[in-house]
Amino acid sequence: SHQSQFTEYKDLIQEGDLALIWISRGNIKAVTIDAKESFNTRYGTFPHKDMIGKQYGSQIAIRTRGTGRFAFVHVLQPTPELWTLSLPHRTQIVYTPDSSYVMQRMNCGPHTRVLEAGTGSGSFSHAFARTVEKLFTYEFHPVRYEQAMLEFKEHGLLNENVTITLRDVCEDGFTIKKGDKTSATFDDEDSKELEATAVFLDLPAPWDAIHHLDKVIAQDQIVSVCCFSPCIEQVDKTIESLEKNGWANIEMVEIQGRQYESRRQMVRSIEDAMERCRDIKRRKQEGIELKRLRIEAEHKGETKPDSEPTPREPFTEKSKFNPFGKGTRVKEGDPNFKWKQVTKIESEIKSHTSYLTFATKLSDKSRRDTVVQ
Ligand code: SAM
Repeated sequence: SHQSQFTEYKDLIQEGDLALIWISRGNIKAVTIDAKESFNTRYGTFPHKDMIGKQYGSQIAIRTRGTGRFAFVHVLQPTPELWTLSLPHRTQIVYTPDSSYVMQRMNCGPHTRVLEAGTGSGSFSHAFARTVEKLFTYEFHPVRYEQAMLEFKEHGLLNENVTITLRDVCEDGFTIKKGDKTSATFDDEDSKELEATAVFLDLPAPWDAIHHLDKVIAQDQIVSVCCFSPCIEQVDKTIESLEKNGWANIEMVEIQGRQYESRRQMVRSIEDAMERCRDIKRRKQEGIELKRLRIEAEHKGETKPDSEPTPREPFTEKSKFNPFGKGTRVKEGDPNFKWKQVTKIESEIKSHTSYLTFATKLSDKSRRDTVVQ
């Protein structure tokens, strides 16, 4: 059967593969490899047949139009992280800084059975699919449901561990029965056994879905829930509903994902600073002196002073680097100067920030009657 490229890595780029083409940071495009097709960028055209047979991760180069220089892209394996950066947006999506935190916080692993609503653009669904035993995802918007279903199918996820269902979970809960609009298949059973151990709700009114959960979560294990909401008023309503429905360990966090950039900064001495101050003072005095001479000369009816004083050389030589800005540009790391290693953070936060409200529930707290030997 068709293996999902999101769960199984392969070595070589082949006809029919889904490949993610890295053009630059923040510009990654998904393509289906087809020997008859080309990938167009503003630098030029990359024929797919140049990619086929090469290793994933390879750099593909072409001569650019006009200039005749080289342009290149990298052809990468699909991963949930790269998919999140390249997928077609049909809704707001959950980004990796949030999804990775949510999954570890809910203890997701190969035995986790997840309920997710709404599916949206399927960004988080791909991350869950790689990690968990089963993902049951729900979407009430018919077009988004169809698009996500098609995408999961193309990515081989429906054959593996993903089930998508057309459903308003606030109105109708999570149970999946024969005859429902769903990708689930039924053998002898009339409804799917969900037994969820983790629940992720990214919808406007999660509080209306919470009371439906008791029917579909595992009873004898600790179940985790996470509600993803942009407004604090939503968090308030969510917490009220979680408490009313017997959820415990309620905690809200917010992820502020930032990228740290490492670079070198010039070390400036106090002597440099003092030299610079003296230099400024000297220039200022020379300026005052010149102005005074000019005014005097004008008084005497001359346009220029007889002998204009030649301005003295500034203390900091022109050719020498001025450590406080203007002047010769020094290349970062120039061995003629002293440097220290520093980190710089981005000023903008990239992830779509929402509040994450977590809680857990253990429904059946009774001890088993098994005798310990
Ligand atoms: N987490 C998704 C992702 O990473 O791509 C994005 C989810 S998007 C912000 C919210 C989705 O929930 C929308 O597609 C919306 O149609 C769906 N939705 C809203 N209310 C719903 C409900 N009651 N039942 C099912 N889906 C719902």
